[in-house]
Amino acid sequence: MASLSLKHIYKVYPNGVKAVNDFCMDIQDKEFIVFVGPSGCGKSTTLRMIAGLEEITAGELRIDDVIVNDKEPKERDIAMVFQNYALYPHYTVYENMAFSLRLRRVPKEEIDQRVREAARILGITEYLEKKPKEMSGGQRQRVALGRAIVREPKVFLLDEPLSNLDAKLRSAMRSEISKLHKKLQTTFIYVTHDQVEAMTMGTRIVVMKDGFVQQIDTPRNLFRYPVNKFVAGFIGTPQMNFYNGKLTRNGDVVEMVFDDTGVKLEVPYSYFVKTDESYLDGKHTVTIGIRPDDVSADANMYPFKAKCRVSFVEELGSESQVYGDFNLDSEDTVAESPTKVIVKAQAGVSYAAGDVVEVSLNLANMHLFDSKTEHTISPRIPAKYVEHCTVSEGKLNLLGTSCKLPPAMDIADGEYTVTIPADAITQGNIAVKKLASEVVNDVTYTEVQLQDKHFFVAGYEDFKGGKIGFDLKKLSFASNGETVFNALNETNVVDGMFVKTRVTEEVERNGVKVKAKGWAFSFDAEGYKFSCPDNIAEVILNSSDTRIFKTPLKLLFNPYQAKLGEAEGLRCSVEGFLDYGTEKFVKLNTGKQTVIVATEEKPDRQEVFLQLDASQLSVVETAHMMRLI
Ligand code: ADP
Repeated sequence: MASLSLKHIYKVYPNGVKAVNDFCMDIQDKEFIVFVGPSGCGKSTTLRMIAGLEEITAGELRIDDVIVNDKEPKERDIAMVFQNYALYPHYTVYENMAFSLRLRRVPKEEIDQRVREAARILGITEYLEKKPKEMSGGQRQRVALGRAIVREPKVFLLDEPLSNLDAKLRSAMRSEISKLHKKLQTTFIYVTHDQVEAMTMGTRIVVMKDGFVQQIDTPRNLFRYPVNKFVAGFIGTPQMNFYNGKLTRNGDVVEMVFDDTGVKLEVPYSYFVKTDESYLDGKHTVTIGIRPDDVSADANMYPFKAKCRVSFVEELGSESQVYGDFNLDSEDTVAESPTKVIVKAQAGVSYAAGDVVEVSLNLANMHLFDSKTEHTISPRIPAKYVEHCTVSEGKLNLLGTSCKLPPAMDIADGEYTVTIPADAITQGNIAVKKLASEVVNDVTYTEVQLQDKHFFVAGYEDFKGGKIGFDLKKLSFASNGETVFNALNETNVVDGMFVKTRVTEEVERNGVKVKAKGWAFSFDAEGYKFSCPDNIAEVILNSSDTRIFKTPLKLLFNPYQAKLGEAEGLRCSVEGFLDYGTEKFVKLNTGKQTVIVATEEKPDRQEVFLQLDASQLSVVETAHMMRLI
């Protein structure tokens, strides 16, 4: 039984390959976590770092709240099962399973009891006296699992344990491993490149690509709310159909035009309430994803219809899969087509190649992506909203509401598109209509409507009177696609170093006070030194090596995480004063950077001293862009 915490874990191999980037995850006790992704995406490297078989370049790994970065594999209380089960061929199954316990000098009776219990759980009791070569692949893999079980580890790590088995056995072993997980009530981490394995076994899945975590979620949520085109295409069989197209909003409807075929559909705006409005301008190319399950050979199943030309039909017994193309002039070729479609149909459909059939589309389940970045533009909970507004005589008119802009927002009269990040929606005095709620990662989001705009607000239940407001300093304004007024920059960055100095401390040894030499740690921000408490120094030291003292760092803090001093601190010149009404900020120049700091009043001097607090900083190692804390 164990929980794990992976904080900003990185792996840079000596040859410079950055195999794992900023892997962050908390794993609860008894979870079944699957790392999935194409070959070379960093799954095994991450697993091996957890096992202690690979050094962690940066980051902090905890097992049951104990930092284990520097612990040997055998001290971590984990057991690993590999693809090549590597059984000792001359030993019996019993001896193979008992081997590691013998090495640890576990008493004979206990070994016997643990081996027999594991054999019972795995259903291999009758093979205990056999040699591995007398057994099938599946049985051997069970012995390999048995070897791990007898050690009674806190965590099981499994690296593609089934990939040497044939398809039928693999599927049988899949359910056995799931059952085993339930029986053992232990944390499992399982690596596979097979999305079906991931979907059927994981309580949560980590989808990786090129060393980056793409998404961590339950199988159901990955399927329903993929964050990008990669996850959308990777999860689910047959693969999601993707088309490029354009979306144009005309009031209550959105016209959807498919590039390459010119197919046009009129879709109610209600399908797009979570979509980033800036993509509904008819100019952006978007990628439209529709799963084969949402394309029906029954033209009357869904309200949106399109014709496709059949290429071939795959009869699967209980159903058919029709491969077709929305381009009716398509040719019979094996080449990829941007307009191809896979349609789920009843068993025994009698289509012939070349037939033109009408299908219907369930657009309620469609997915939308930016065609360049491939990120979703219609997320489960929008991170930002785009809306039209006007500014006149210092007043902002937005969605039928009007408010006075503070002195810091000196925006010329005119029409703008305003970007409202989700965290800019606060409690206020604007009445809205309350719609549904949904819970995502323990946070309740309430859908509220203001005119025809829908917002998904976290913590809305606590808003007095159910009225919302906008945090004006977070809004940015654009005109004709050009930003004309930026939101207040709330991320300050200064250059820094991590420094140690020799100190003499008084410590108690055997009841006597003696002087001892030790280290004190501090940060140096452009020449200003401020102390770093030991608990933070420990995290940095644990998540890096000795070169850290020579490595340039970026120190990140927000306007509320710094103070202004009169004599001590980083000397800065005052560049400006930003009055946002209830909040005020001062704009400073350190000589290298501009930073923004919250203040109660306008400084009466041209020079102030910036004071930082090590416990409030985020720290990034610049050379490899590795986040340390
Ligand atoms: P996966 O398990 O997802 O197939 P790996 O974790 O094995 O991926 O590898 C991730 C990346 O790190 C790959 O680009 C691989 O070539 C590289 N890599 C793995 N091991 C080493 C190593 N010992 N030295 C250098 N590069 C490595």
